[in-house]
Amino acid sequence: MKTLKIAIQKSGRLNEKSVEILKNCGLSFENYKSSLISKVGNFPLEILFLRDDDIPEYVQDGIADLGIVGENIIIETNAKVSYLQKLGFGKCSLKIAIKNTCDINEIKELEGKAIATSYPVILSRYLKANNITAQIRNISGSVEIGPGLGLSDAIFDIVSTGSTLKNNGLKPFVSVMDSEAVLISTQGMELNAEVLELVKRIQSVLRAKATKYVVLNVEKKNLQRIVDLLPGVKSPTIVPLFEEEWVAVHSVIPEEDFWQKINALKAAGAQGIVVMPIEKIIA
Ligand code: ATP
Ligand code: MG
Repeated sequence: MKTLKIAIQKSGRLNEKSVEILKNCGLSFENYKSSLISKVGNFPLEILFLRDDDIPEYVQDGIADLGIVGENIIIETNAKVSYLQKLGFGKCSLKIAIKNTCDINEIKELEGKAIATSYPVILSRYLKANNITAQIRNISGSVEIGPGLGLSDAIFDIVSTGSTLKNNGLKPFVSVMDSEAVLISTQGMELNAEVLELVKRIQSVLRAKATKYVVLNVEKKNLQRIVDLLPGVKSPTIVPLFEEEWVAVHSVIPEEDFWQKINALKAAGAQGIVVMPIEKIIA
């Protein structure tokens, strides 16, 4: 049987989370910083550690069957790959930013301007779609200093908190795309049992990450109010307590509205609330 290969970033913003998700899938491997390939001990899989820019092409050409990389890099490299799963990390936006002192308001006003970027493909597509002719200055890093040095009027780059822009006297002007890490595969490749197993495990880990396991005590007279607040995987588990008028309620709640839910549960009479992380949820 052919060993599957998955390409992940060797070092950088996506490395740690990519390794973590694979480890949470129960795969055992050494995260060698010095080596390019790591063999998984308990699954027919090899992990290739690469520059993120190279991952889409490796997967497109079938050198790696699978890859974990930012959507921005897939689009920038123009690689033809299949998307299997969004992974919920490495989230960022790619924005055009201008000098604080610049007072343009509409994207049409970018006409004729010089824009520095490391993402010329995404930028030129955006400009073309908006019928704007601008001068794209392709530079490989630290694009934020471009306007300050007189290299460009604007920049197009990844923005997360905006603090780098601020420190360089820039302000966001328009958001061009949002990106996150995704699991990709070679187009047209056979999705055999091993690939499906791996995707299933990744999805179980993602589902578990998005939820918390909650146990709480409540007086029976308040039970219905608590149950109404809890979606659970199916419906909450109710366990009798030694004290007859009380029960323990076990349930799973989404991470996103976690504090709101906890406060509502308390207000509805929940006591002794215990919250635990979930490792996996098998569909
Ligand atoms: P490599 O050495 O692998 O080429 P890199 O320096 O090009 O790495 P990183 O800075 O590690 O890239 O970013 C990798 C990816 O992480 C980006 O392409 C993007 O998808 C994502 N990302 C998420 N948030 C940010 C952010 N604030 N800044 C930069 N990238 C981010
Ligand atoms: Mg890179």
